[in-house]
Amino acid sequence: MSRVYNFSAGPACLPVEVLQKAQEQMLDYQGTGMSVMEMSHRSKAYEEIIGAAESNLRKLMNIPENYKVLFLQGGASLQFAMVPMNLLSKHKKAHYVNTGLWSKKAIKEAKRFGEVNVAASSEDQTFSYIPKLSADMFTPDADYVHITTNNTIYGTKFKEIPETNGIPLVTDMSSCILSEEVDVSKYGIIYAGAQKNIGPAGLTIVIIRDDLIGNVAEIPTMLDYKTHADAGSMFNTPPTYAIYIAGLVFEWLLDLGGLGEIQKVNERKAAILYDYLDNSGFYKGTARREDRSLMNVPFVIGDPEMEKKFVAEAAAAGFVNLKGHRTVGGMRASIYNAMPVEGIEKLTAFMEAFKKNNA
Ligand SMILES: *Cc1c(COP(=O)(O)O)cnc(C)c1O
Repeated sequence: MSRVYNFSAGPACLPVEVLQKAQEQMLDYQGTGMSVMEMSHRSKAYEEIIGAAESNLRKLMNIPENYKVLFLQGGASLQFAMVPMNLLSKHKKAHYVNTGLWSKKAIKEAKRFGEVNVAASSEDQTFSYIPKLSADMFTPDADYVHITTNNTIYGTKFKEIPETNGIPLVTDMSSCILSEEVDVSKYGIIYAGAQKNIGPAGLTIVIIRDDLIGNVAEIPTMLDYKTHADAGSMFNTPPTYAIYIAGLVFEWLLDLGGLGEIQKVNERKAAILYDYLDNSGFYKGTARREDRSLMNVPFVIGDPEMEKKFVAEAAAAGFVNLKGHRTVGGMRASIYNAMPVEGIEKLTAFMEAFKKNNA
């Protein structure tokens, strides 16, 4: 068996320890004589799995009592619709900050349900930076403010939580959740598809403040946060196996010492890669320095043929999925929690060898 270094933006690599534990428990989960996939979601064994997953996530993120944790389906993309459907209750208007393709999709969807004010955008420079925000951009005639904390495709990230004058702040954290410490109390809703930094595809996590639930009538049952909050994410069959694997990832993070510890590792990894890019004289990072992501690192050589060669030779050497997003080209290394420091050290050594052979 040989494993590659997988730099995919998502679905992405998972901790080997988690995969091994899942393998050990595959045929007989703790004496039940069945795999978690085969279990009733109403069984005692499964109730313990989902209960532990929630309490470990609460511990990791220090989630206050007045927030619900929901295990949903439909991806972050369904949240683009559920957020406006559930939150446009009073003003029927929301402020959005446009920092990339995922923000644009969220904006497009919100427009179906109410008025959208794009308060700031970085589209003028291909989303290579985070626009400066000030509280006065967010007039009080809105039900919420929406940001995308980490921009997976462009490799930018909000380093500060915007001041919103008391308007609930909603964020898409799909590609940075659990990568560093976070103050949940600053947000009304945090949502994330699981397949980047949490677990397998098919699970979406929503962390929502109690007062934002149940303020709009006439929402289809499955799209109403209240349905899932009232039923403890068990209104219908939840994505049971994905929740189980996510739970193993939460345990893995707690064993490492929590988000403060993984943040240090992530900062080290990003520093190795960005320092190399900045000093290589061959590769160039595309995001503005002060807005750089810890999780997604896009870079270019500047010659599409050379970039194609780079991606192919990297893959042959065991560094896979380095091709940039189709809308921006170049390369992108996604270096989520499960990517070890060693993977970054070996990648930069490969990059140096490639440069020597091709510069
Ligand atoms: C991947 C991604 C999405 C889309 O997620 P799905 O779960 O596939 O719907 C949305 N937002 C961000 C920031 C992403 O990285």
